[in-house]
Amino acid sequence: MTTKGSSKKLNVEDRRAALSSVRRTKNRASSQPAQREPLSPVPDANVRADFSILPGFREMRLQKAAAELLEIDNPFFRAHDGRASALTRIGGKEYINFSSYDYLGLNGHPAVQKAARDAVDRYGISAGASRVVGGERPIHRDLERKIAEVYGVEDAVVFVSGHATNVSTIGQLLQPEDTIIHDAFIHNSIVTGARLSGASRQSFPHNDFEALEGLLRRRSSKKGKVLVAVEGVYSMDGDCPDLTRLVELKRRYGFWLMVDEAHALGILGKTGRGLHEHWNIDANEVDIWMGTCSKTLAGCGGYIAGSRDLTEYLKFSASGFVFSVGMPPPVAASISAAIDMMLAEPERVERVQEAGRCLLKLARQEGLETGTSDGHAVVPVMIGDSIKATTIAARLLGEGVNVLPIIYPAVPERSSRLRFFVTSDHTEEQLKQAVTAVSKVWEEYDRDPVSLAKLAQLAAG
Ligand code: PMP
Repeated sequence: MTTKGSSKKLNVEDRRAALSSVRRTKNRASSQPAQREPLSPVPDANVRADFSILPGFREMRLQKAAAELLEIDNPFFRAHDGRASALTRIGGKEYINFSSYDYLGLNGHPAVQKAARDAVDRYGISAGASRVVGGERPIHRDLERKIAEVYGVEDAVVFVSGHATNVSTIGQLLQPEDTIIHDAFIHNSIVTGARLSGASRQSFPHNDFEALEGLLRRRSSKKGKVLVAVEGVYSMDGDCPDLTRLVELKRRYGFWLMVDEAHALGILGKTGRGLHEHWNIDANEVDIWMGTCSKTLAGCGGYIAGSRDLTEYLKFSASGFVFSVGMPPPVAASISAAIDMMLAEPERVERVQEAGRCLLKLARQEGLETGTSDGHAVVPVMIGDSIKATTIAARLLGEGVNVLPIIYPAVPERSSRLRFFVTSDHTEEQLKQAVTAVSKVWEEYDRDPVSLAKLAQLAAG
């Protein structure tokens, strides 16, 4: 276990405060959202703003307090010494790394880096302004055409952020009289876009299309559009939806279908083209393909691919495109080169698929609970309690394995887990080593578990 230096240890007062924070938040995590304290009706210009009244503030402090009580380093915002892929260096030491989206090992690939360097030489770094007013560079349209070709659809548009792509697109396409129906495990960016649009929002249990059909049947008489949103591969779970079934439902109920391919591009299908290739379905059956350039494509930004009407409309109206700077030319160039590599070297796709299957098999053989994962590059090891997940992740670092705990509020408290991202560069040996380490550390933890009572003891000094 990595411990903090004794000089950093909490004093008695801090320990008490930390413990009561732990208790308060623990209660809140399993009950209703916090009551906000009323603001003073007469603002006093001399008093500094009290940000601690904000929702989630105490939960944030809880994580820190609990980690300090347990004397474990904060697993978040860890500084890596260099490029992080299947291996990484932290504080001068090498670790097997499971915290990177670099699914096809393209981050730092010589061809991808050269494309970025050439673009820097030619265009500088910034796009200077929104493409609407600052103009674009040829590389922007080249990239969009290439993304459209990957799907075999009419066109694509790229945004500077994957998250903003979903927020702006959904925020623009839906109006308050519309409805968005999404999988319960959908990404935050889709929920945020739905909130922005003012549309009604409903969710169906993960991958349960009978439940989806029930919602559609009840909805079919009402006015307004219906958008159904799913992910190509679920980022916390490593499984994918049945696209055949969704397309059948779309034909029957006439909704707009949107697929977020953030974790599917490069992972699904023989050549990494994503969910439609996996199910062998014409991509034109889906109305809105969304993806990010920050995972397989080792860059930054997001895209929407589909009909020309859709992409032209978004370029004209989506706030995250119109009122935001264009993608930096070197990023656009490197993403374009990464797509070329993905298509030219399908063995990378095959290797990441193998690595995912292998990790899933090894974890199951070891008796670890892997949730609904099908091994599509993401394999969760379900722990079920955030203190345990955080402690095990911290101790795994001592075994040479860097894997992050996913805890409340990112997932419900009882679904706390370790999330393993695999890449095409992970070897079977590394995967075995990681699974063995998880078992070892888990057993050690169970021999001396951390409970609230133990935290109380620690807090009392
Ligand atoms: N959609 C999904 C499913 C994601 O997992 C993420 C981020 N991990 C995003 C959208 C946002 O993408 P980005 O990080 O590239 O902004």
